Amino acid sequence: MLRRGFWAMRAAHQSQNAAYSSLAGSALLRSQAYVGGRWVEADGGGVFAVQEPASGQRLAEVADCGPRDAKAAVRAAYEGLPGWRVATSKERSNLLRKWYDLMMKNKDELAKLITAENGKPLNEALGEIVYAASFLEWFSEEARRVYGDVVPTPSPNRRILILKQPIGVASIITPWNFPSAMLTRKAGAALAVGCTVVVKPAEDTPLSALALAELADQAGIPAGVFNVIPSSKSNTPAVGEVLCTDPLVAAISFTGSTATGKILLRHASDTVKKASMELGGLAPFIVFDSADLDLAVAGAMASKFRNTGQTCVCANQFLVQEGIHDAFVEKMVKAMHKDLRVGSGFDEQTTQGPLINERAVEKVENQISDAVSRGACIVTGGKRHSLGGTFFEPTLLSNVTTDMLCTQEETFGPLAPVLKFRTEEEAVAIANAANVGLAGYFYSRDHAQIWRVAEQLEVGIVGVNEGMLSTPEAPFGGVKQSGLGREGSKYGIDDFLEIKYVCFGGL
Ligand code: NAD
Repeated sequence: MLRRGFWAMRAAHQSQNAAYSSLAGSALLRSQAYVGGRWVEADGGGVFAVQEPASGQRLAEVADCGPRDAKAAVRAAYEGLPGWRVATSKERSNLLRKWYDLMMKNKDELAKLITAENGKPLNEALGEIVYAASFLEWFSEEARRVYGDVVPTPSPNRRILILKQPIGVASIITPWNFPSAMLTRKAGAALAVGCTVVVKPAEDTPLSALALAELADQAGIPAGVFNVIPSSKSNTPAVGEVLCTDPLVAAISFTGSTATGKILLRHASDTVKKASMELGGLAPFIVFDSADLDLAVAGAMASKFRNTGQTCVCANQFLVQEGIHDAFVEKMVKAMHKDLRVGSGFDEQTTQGPLINERAVEKVENQISDAVSRGACIVTGGKRHSLGGTFFEPTLLSNVTTDMLCTQEETFGPLAPVLKFRTEEEAVAIANAANVGLAGYFYSRDHAQIWRVAEQLEVGIVGVNEGMLSTPEAPFGGVKQSGLGREGSKYGIDDFLEIKYVCFGGL
């Protein structure tokens, strides 16, 4: 078994390295920070390694920016602001559109970078690039629709005007699970309305952000408007502090865990910065007796196993009504055996890449052993995959109860815990017991039930008979401790705007 694992692992790495090395010499493979329109080393010349999640092999060394670099990047963004905010909306729109076109032109190379540093299957990585680019396209269009208001006045000699203006420099901190899309969803909105930004990408996946900086440069986005400062895990807290406290920064936009979001909110409070937070979730996936079973299983597979279970909107717990429970479990397990293939993201057959790192694997293992110790049954999977590294078997647990960790903390891995429930009230109560509320899904063909449950679920995003929800046209964001604000859609620009009331008197 061990030997088979070794050879499978070696083959996976060879195919991965072959695909990745086709990027060598590519203009998109950058290792320095991008500040004020220039590629620069970190202060002191420090670097950190970017590794393949599967093997821990080194892919690149990138500039390890510290707090001094963060200050310099904020200064560059501040200096870029006067020119950018007075550019016409049409000029900004055109540049965002050029950036979008370049992303689409380079989508294959960008996708390979994601697969190399994040591990997700290449076709999912390609999907992420198209999705990421769609935010630049969307916000290039929204740039020209930042309307203010003229409000009816209570006094005949006054007029009331409401202006919307860019807030200023925005700090952007992004996660590793969607290294391109989480960046463009924020930067697209910020740049569209006239803000300049400093981006700190996740330490696991800085290459995608640097590639986007290269394309922003090629698109002609002016110096200082878009800055990227990679930073190692050890430098990140100090860099984050600068990005949230520097007086030249007006807003902080963060996507990541709720725990980190709370740290950043505390930092931002000292200088009362506007903060938008896209944080963790604990998505319930409810299947009522009236559901279309095949549709529910297809939705469950898409929602649970995309990105190997590492999305913030992944179904975290499956609540299945007693009448349909056994049939759902049976069909789900069949679908898992038939449709899921674990392996290198560069292998065309692969649907499940490695988890991002060892900590992620330990979290899934811990949730499984906790659940089993409290009475859950492993129906399929349950352990590390024979490929070794951070590969994990897609797992389904039955007999799950609400005292188990897997129903209380975000899993971020390929684990589907199934709970049986009796009544609608019980399912909604379990779902709403969470202190977070990002996405929630339910399957039902009862129209009255659909309205009731959609209104009752305490989440920011609801999928009714649908497991894949994200699109630039719709607002993305959560309630409770899942965050503040919305991204994408016509609302996505709001966090980067200030409203100014202008009163014309003496008329
Ligand atoms: P994380 O909070 O560990 O890291 C996110 C980012 O914050 C990274 O860039 C990291 O370097 C940085 N960071 C960590 N500690 C910091 C500190 N002290 N100061 C400043 N920056 C710091 O989260 P993660 O593991 O990278 O991402 C997974 C989490 O992100 C999950 O909880 C997931 O649900 C959430 N997420 C949410 C959304 C959403 O839209 N709501 C989208 C994707 C991911």
